[in-house]
Amino acid sequence: MNLILMGLPGAGKGTQAERIVATYNIPHISTGDMFREAIKNETTLGLKAKSYMDAGDLVPDEVTNGIVKERLAQKDTDKGFLLDGFPRTLDQAKALAEMLTDLNKKIDAVIDIQVAEEVLVERLAGRFMCRNCGATYHKIFNPTKVEGTCDRCGGHEFYQREDDKPETVKNRLSVNVKNSEPILAYYDEEGLLYPVDGDREIDAVFADVEKIIEK
Ligand code: ADP
Ligand code: ADP
Ligand code: ZN
Repeated sequence: MNLILMGLPGAGKGTQAERIVATYNIPHISTGDMFREAIKNETTLGLKAKSYMDAGDLVPDEVTNGIVKERLAQKDTDKGFLLDGFPRTLDQAKALAEMLTDLNKKIDAVIDIQVAEEVLVERLAGRFMCRNCGATYHKIFNPTKVEGTCDRCGGHEFYQREDDKPETVKNRLSVNVKNSEPILAYYDEEGLLYPVDGDREIDAVFADVEKIIEK
């Protein structure tokens, strides 16, 4: 099962991705996570990505396409994969189609998690993550079961993303709204697009996602 998860920042891609990859045992390929990891480790890639991410702008396509191509060439994607946060431009979508043709693979479904922009601002403002395993939580909508302890790994250190501050969020949203429309139209034309109402409880959203995947 080769899947793409679409949705604006805060729509719940990471949250649903955690559930999808645990249920279907496929690798989670998140370009945002790959960039954050590279920045943390101060690699060349991290240096290239940092200034764009800090401003809420997109990292240039040639950089992003390169890391995805490398990742999709790895053996573990043979059993399927979940792309989260990629493609984010029409050029990336076209580059992806080429990569997949070269690898003799194809996309089975594009799941688009739809949430109104007003809701997204509130979600991003309350988002926090586990420093150890990267699990995503929300102060109000999705807190840890035990306060101060990660449900997934038991870690005690949490952080908020630098790019979730209100100044950056506005730019990120507008960049992503503008870029996502042509991508959605492109996948719709291919008959691959499956919209999901993302403005409901996390479990209710996941139930719809499962229905799409089972089909
Ligand atoms: P969110 O979870 O808020 O949707 P991500 O973690 O996917 O955000 O991405 C964070 C940042 O990483 C983006 O604002 C952008 O700077 C960079 N990034 C992630 N994916 C891409 C991509 N496909 N193309 C260009 N930049 C990207
Ligand atoms: P994305 O990866 O699309 O940027 P996240 O999965 O990180 O989105 O979710 C953004 C924030 O909203 C997180 O704090 C998360 O806990 C919370 N969240 C995710 N899904 C829902 C939902 N269905 N209802 C309320 N809050 C949610
Ligand atoms: Zn954790």
